[in-house]
Amino acid sequence: MDKKGILKEFSSDPDRYYKVKLFEEQGFVRKACSKCGRFFWTLDSGRDLCPEDAEDTYSFIGEPPTAKRFDYTQAWKQVEKFFEKNNHTSVSRYPVVCRWRDDLYFTIASIVDFQRVMGSKVVFEFPANPLVVPQTCLRFKDLENVGVTGRHFSSFCMIGQHSIPNLQGYWKDECVDLDYRLLTEQFGIKKEEVVFVEDVWAGGGSFGSSLEYFVRGLELGNAVFTEFQGELGKHTTLDQKIIDMGAGLERFAWITKGTPTAYDCCFGPITNHLFEKIGIQSDSEMLRNYFTSIAKNLEIYDDLSDVRRHAVKDAGLTDDQLNRIITPLEGIYLIVDHLRTLIFAITDGALPSNVGGGYNLRMMLRRINGTIDRMNLKADIDELIDMHIDYLRDTYPELDEKRQDVKTILKLESQRYVESKSRMGKMAGKLKEKGRDPTVDELITLYESDGITPEYLKEIEVISEIPSSFYAKLLDLHQLDKKKATQQLPLENIPETDMLFYKDDPMEFDAKVLKVFENSVILDRTSFYARGGGQEPDHGTISGFTVTDVNKHGGVILHELERGMPKEGDTVSCKVDVTRRANITKNHTSTHILNASSRKVLGSWIWQHSAFKEDDHARLDITHHSSLTDEQVRDIEDAANNMVKQNIPVSIEYFDRGTAEQKYGFRIYQGGVVPVKSVRIVSIEYKDIEACGGTHVKKTGDIELIKITRTKRIQDGVVRLEFVSGDTAQEYLKQQEIEKSEKEKESAQKELREKQREEDKQKAREKIPVLLEEISSLNDSETIDEIEITVIDSTKICFTSSKRYDEFFHITFGKKLVKNHPNSVYVGIFESGPTIRVMAYSGEEASKSKNAWNIVKSVAEVLDGAGGGDAKFAQGGGKDTSKIDQAIAKAKSMILG
Ligand SMILES: [Zn+2]
Ligand SMILES: [Zn+2]
Repeated sequence: MDKKGILKEFSSDPDRYYKVKLFEEQGFVRKACSKCGRFFWTLDSGRDLCPEDAEDTYSFIGEPPTAKRFDYTQAWKQVEKFFEKNNHTSVSRYPVVCRWRDDLYFTIASIVDFQRVMGSKVVFEFPANPLVVPQTCLRFKDLENVGVTGRHFSSFCMIGQHSIPNLQGYWKDECVDLDYRLLTEQFGIKKEEVVFVEDVWAGGGSFGSSLEYFVRGLELGNAVFTEFQGELGKHTTLDQKIIDMGAGLERFAWITKGTPTAYDCCFGPITNHLFEKIGIQSDSEMLRNYFTSIAKNLEIYDDLSDVRRHAVKDAGLTDDQLNRIITPLEGIYLIVDHLRTLIFAITDGALPSNVGGGYNLRMMLRRINGTIDRMNLKADIDELIDMHIDYLRDTYPELDEKRQDVKTILKLESQRYVESKSRMGKMAGKLKEKGRDPTVDELITLYESDGITPEYLKEIEVISEIPSSFYAKLLDLHQLDKKKATQQLPLENIPETDMLFYKDDPMEFDAKVLKVFENSVILDRTSFYARGGGQEPDHGTISGFTVTDVNKHGGVILHELERGMPKEGDTVSCKVDVTRRANITKNHTSTHILNASSRKVLGSWIWQHSAFKEDDHARLDITHHSSLTDEQVRDIEDAANNMVKQNIPVSIEYFDRGTAEQKYGFRIYQGGVVPVKSVRIVSIEYKDIEACGGTHVKKTGDIELIKITRTKRIQDGVVRLEFVSGDTAQEYLKQQEIEKSEKEKESAQKELREKQREEDKQKAREKIPVLLEEISSLNDSETIDEIEITVIDSTKICFTSSKRYDEFFHITFGKKLVKNHPNSVYVGIFESGPTIRVMAYSGEEASKSKNAWNIVKSVAEVLDGAGGGDAKFAQGGGKDTSKIDQAIAKAKSMILG
């Protein structure tokens, strides 16, 4: 939508769109900025410039316009006190992981808390009216500004003041009056300091006027009056008008403190704790000048390095001051900001990974680790986490509960960073050789596939600056993952199917055929469960024809049939395949049980990522950082079967969506967003409570048994559990026992064979003297105990490749034979581990014509191996066991030929 056009239109009729009662009562005058032309309202009739262009911009740094001083948490107390006094309900913050919207990973504004999807429309659901909320919002678009500009954060607290006027709420007059009194009465800011600037807001098909309020050039808040929908000129008034006032709590603290940056008054004692470590002062004339100039230059230059360069010049900083003070200061602000964001995100169940929203978290921790390394800072992340949570827990007690989980996850991720550093070093070396800066796309690829952050490349001087578009581009790339496509079918004028599986769920029923097309049938009512929520559809028969698939389109259920179709208008008798349904149902309740068990065994970050429930197998994908150990799998399975054994009732209740959220929290959205107002809550006591549309057993004992058959880390941050339940699990168990006993039998047999072989070898050794005796008396060729003896004239050639002889035998026997009979040759081929070995002995006489070394060398060549020795004794071998027959043939031809 054209914001400029709307603003022009609204500003041409200020009485209607902007002039609130307060302006009249207090005597505000409307002025146009002599520099940029924007309209603003002020008590100071001499003011000609809008807040951003005015000379006093950022003059609160070092000289705050309030008599009172409030840091971050104190500022919230003031805001909350004021709004509660004025009939607002103070609502706890919503999770920063936006489980109730499938187009957002993270909560980016306070109004998002109350937006719910209904079909394709966004509606507002308020738990109270009017209300105020300290909503932590995550935004990753200006990441390169964080720590540098003095006012950009990766997460911040948006003070959300919201009201629906036609439900006991209020509209523009009261909103602006409240905001003005908040500033002047509660925060003690002088009336003349407050300036309102005319603006508009447009998004998601609706729009409205807005008033931004400034003090000394700092925008503290923006009151948006969402009022219209459609295109300007053809627009209509919304049924549900909304007050959406969002203000930055960090800025409220900053304006009262007047510190050089907003970071100095929003992180409690942490920043000072770090400054002391490196011995710098964060409050000095020099820093006040520098950051005031940064703030002013930010309005002038787009490129951050230009902003920084000009500020250095304006404040008269030397290179030494820049390197010794500003750069470390920026590093500390970055560490502290990013860590706070990670604490909120992990507390709310997000995990650093390479996919989806988790990618932002991993990147932030890498930036923290990289900065700590670069600064050589002795910082203990666990200690910093404690300091953050201790400071914030009054406002956000839930952080306290997840303290240990946050530490666990960040420790693990930091270890991964250390492990990847040497690999990153090598990659960066290659880049340096190229002799040119990588493009933004190349930088993105480097990060995505190798985890190399641009900060790291800057640190080792591969690039001089991080391109300003890097983070925005990366973010866009990852936002795209979360869009869905819907299929369109011609189903006009067909009423929604009466879904009996949500009622008394008869397994045999009669129904009327409403429509038949292709191989699909639509009935007026059905018990056939349609594919959904990862649960596979029911099978069975309709009018004797086989049902092969069932799908839901909106509220209409389509049955796919095989081998014939009923006629439209017929009443047909239908039968659901009871066994299949029972098996799928057991698997479905089992996914809930395994989800709860995994969370209990592994940690609070476990969420269902996705699930699949078929007749004879099922799987549950959970969010977890590492592969599971055998012990963990066993523990999860035990915990699950424990729940089965306890025979806990599974109850199903319907709640209004808002009530369900307030009662059970956002954990109910394990299977994703619920796009209807009435939520079906499936609970296994307090152990697992989920919004779910699937079929479930009445009591956990009905499942009998759950067996995890396999687990696998299927992607970064997601682990798959494959499992079976009920009869299939019993069957699996039986099968496993059979396999186990077969394996045992097999290994017993193997052991026996080994033993036999050992005994044979022992016997063979004992037989050596007897064998020598027998061979001595031999006059004709013969085979004795698998040793082939060939007698040619007076030469006796002995060869064996029998398995019963080992190295010891060959050595002892060969040595003695050639010693007793100087005219004899002995060659033995045998397997030893993965190789085939050959040994040859040639007696004093025989060696003249049968050279032992020649024999071994030729055989070893056949085996692709090598050997060593001399004419009388040689040994060798090779690894190509497939050539044993060729080796034997070669040996024979060498000694006999
Ligand atoms: Zn201006
Ligand atoms: Zn479910």
